[in-house]
Amino acid sequence: MESKQFQLNDIVEMKKQHPCGTNAWKIIRMGADIRIKCEGCQHSVLIPRKEFEKKMKRRLVEADPQ
Ligand SMILES: [Zn+2]
Repeated sequence: MESKQFQLNDIVEMKKQHPCGTNAWKIIRMGADIRIKCEGCQHSVLIPRKEFEKKMKRRLVEADPQ
């Protein structure tokens, strides 16, 4: 299985959409925990990296390299 690629500022799709109906999340913090922000309602959540990797479906938009 291909390992998931993601970096800060990427927009990703999760396996479950947010209750607001949007399924696009921006990665706004990277670390042992990852903070993602819903592109629909701007709600943000902090999740452990392991859990994030499990719940992330795919990358929608790749951030420009810094
Ligand atoms: Zn939302």
